[in-house]
Order: sequence, then structure tokens, then C-alpha cells
Amino acid sequence: MSLFAAVAMAPRDPILGLNEQFNADTNPDKVNLGVGVYYDDNGKLPLLACVAAAEAQMQAAPKPRGYLPIDGIVAYDQAVQALVFGQDAEVLRARRVATVQALGGTGGLKIGADFLKRLNPAAKVLISDPSWENHRALFTNAGFTVETYPYYDAAHRGIDFPAMLAALTAAPAGTVVVLHACCHNPTGYDLTPAQWAQVVEAVSARGLVAFLDMAYQGFGEGIAEDGAVIQQFLGAGLDFFVSTSFSKSFSLYGERVGALSVVCATADETAKVLSQLKIVIRTNYSNPPTHGAQVVATVLSTPALRAQWEEELAGMRVRIRQMREALVTELRAAGITEDLSFVTRQKGMFSYSGLSAEQMQRLRSEFGVYGVDSGRICVAALNSKNLKPVAAAIAAVKK
Ligand code: PMP
Repeated sequence: MSLFAAVAMAPRDPILGLNEQFNADTNPDKVNLGVGVYYDDNGKLPLLACVAAAEAQMQAAPKPRGYLPIDGIVAYDQAVQALVFGQDAEVLRARRVATVQALGGTGGLKIGADFLKRLNPAAKVLISDPSWENHRALFTNAGFTVETYPYYDAAHRGIDFPAMLAALTAAPAGTVVVLHACCHNPTGYDLTPAQWAQVVEAVSARGLVAFLDMAYQGFGEGIAEDGAVIQQFLGAGLDFFVSTSFSKSFSLYGERVGALSVVCATADETAKVLSQLKIVIRTNYSNPPTHGAQVVATVLSTPALRAQWEEELAGMRVRIRQMREALVTELRAAGITEDLSFVTRQKGMFSYSGLSAEQMQRLRSEFGVYGVDSGRICVAALNSKNLKPVAAAIAAVKK
């Protein structure tokens, strides 16, 4: 009997499986809307000019690559804090936020999950129904029982907010609630500021632990607008978690640049929490990598590069919005008469199109248009060239 004879084949990642199918498709007009990646109007992954400029600056004065501190580059952690909580925020002056550099947003979530498991092993985790695929797997792997709170309302093309609020209000104290700070993945539907206020109230009244996943800051309405929910949680005086990702906002997917921030009640508690986060990191991968975080720290702390980044980020945000409007126009032109206002009401890269699994399969097999069976399409992969054929294909499977 060999050592690995009993090892079962793990299920394939559904979205990566879709990519493999796309790559194998010989249709010259195929379009991949299954990915969670922003492409420019030429269908190319952008290298932001601010990133290239920061890298040129770094290359002009190359540095040796010693180990970073366990919690990452100090200037990077500070830049993340200023971005997430606001420059000169009271909570930062009071030293009430523990921030660590992480391997992307996923890494931030996992460090937080491991710390939470040690803090309160019996707690349950609630994620939205539906949510980013990896939320369930990640928190399950960290040892938690993961359940869902209602979110998507297919019939009304939006959020079933009363049901969501009822589920939060019924959750036992200590329950960890994973919330998408903006640009909900996969639906594209975000809470209004008034709805967020009610969520904050429920979290506070029930003694829940909010874990805000901010993977798309700047992709919805703007950097400050997308981060406004953080201010609401701060205003309520809550302790909470925020994971940050720069994968999308800096187009630095492969560099794995993210962070975890934990807001605490006092500076003393913050120091203790930070010491525990460092144990989690130390026993997993010791310390984070240098390059990506140095690029982000350089851009965020150099005024000219920072201004350039904000402009480039706005460019991505505006292009996505234009694609949403253009998709509606093209669907109308292709004869679709139903209310399509949901397409432009949604925020961020994704659109829950409302198409059935069967329609999504027909899009693939008959038209080479690849989306997820849930009906999720990536609007950020639409461009002026593929827009018309995609709209025509959608119209055809809807007939
Ligand atoms: N959270 C959500 C909601 C996401 O959509 C993603 C990325 N698709 C992540 C976290 C992970 O981001 P990263 O690639 O930076 O790990």
C-alpha cells in the first residue's frame, strides 16, 4: 500500500475549470466573462503606469532583499491604514488598529480567520448567500462551521434586505459575519448607506463580529465612497476586521498584495492583537514578500504617483460603468424589452445577469461566451469589440 493510495481527487475549482474549457475552445470569437479580472478595452490585463513608474524608481536604486518584519513593510501598513480608515483618522492617532501585510485579500482573510478561531473556537461564521466561492472554503478550513445569511433576491433583482437583517438579528453573540464592503461578488448588488446603518446597529446590538472584505475599493463609486462603510463601523465604536486587496485596484494580481486590519478598543489591546497576528503569520509563512507591497507603498506615499493611481483607478471604474450602459443599449437593440435597470444599478466587476444555468451553458456551447453557471458575468472583461456579439448571444439564449 503506497503512502498516497487513499488520497481522493479533490473537486476542481469551478472557475478555473471554466478557464480550461475556454482555453480549449477553438471558436475564434470566444469571449471569457468567467474571470474575476479587469481587462482594458483591448482585452489586455493593464500594467498601471503608476506601478511601472514606482518599479522604475525602485530599480534605479536597487536594495538587497532581507527578510521583512513579520507584519510587513511599515510604510505599507501605514499607507493601508490611511487608505482604509482615512488620513489622520482618530482611530489611527489613538493606535487602535493592528494592520499586517498579507498575501492578497485572501491572505488577509485567512490570517483573520486563524486568529478568530483561537479567540473564539465555538463561533459560527455567516457569509452572504451567495458569496465569493472561497469565503466558505477558507473559513471552513480554518475550523469554523460556515452558514449563510440571505442576500440575493432573484425575483426583485436586488438584495432581500429584511431577510438579511432578520438573520443577523437572530445570530448568537460572537457570530462572525463576513460582509462585502463594496462591489459584492458575485451579485454586484451593494447595500445603501441607510441599510449599512441598520447592519451596524444589528452587529452592535447582537454582539456580532463584523469581518469586512474590501477587495474592490475604488471599483464602485470611488475610494472614499467605497470605504464609507468603514466610517459607519468606526462611528458605532465597534471592534471589527477589514481585509484589503490591491489585486484589482493596482492590477497586481500575481504579486499577492493585501492586508488585514483589526480595529480594537484600546492601544493596549491593539498591541496584544498584533502580537497574536504575528504568531499566525510566523507559523504559516514567516514573513511576507517584498516587491508588491513596496510598489504599493511607493505609489501611495508619493504624491505624483498617488494622483496618477487615482486617475488610473477612476479610468477602470468609469470604463466598467460605460460597459454596463453599453450592454443595456446593445441588449435593447437586440430586442430585449424587459427592465434592464439592474445592470447599471450593480457595482463593480460583476453582474448577476439573471440567466439560468441552462442559458449560460448555451452561451458557451453555441456562442463561445463563457460565464459562470450562476449567471455571473464579468463586466470588466467586456470591450468595444466583444460587446455586440455578447449582447446578441445573450438575446438569442433569452428567446
Ligand atoms: N474577496 C473577494 C470578495 C474577492 O472577490 C476576491 C478576489 N476575487 C478576494 C477576496 C481575494 O483577493 P486576492 O486575489 O487579493 O486574494
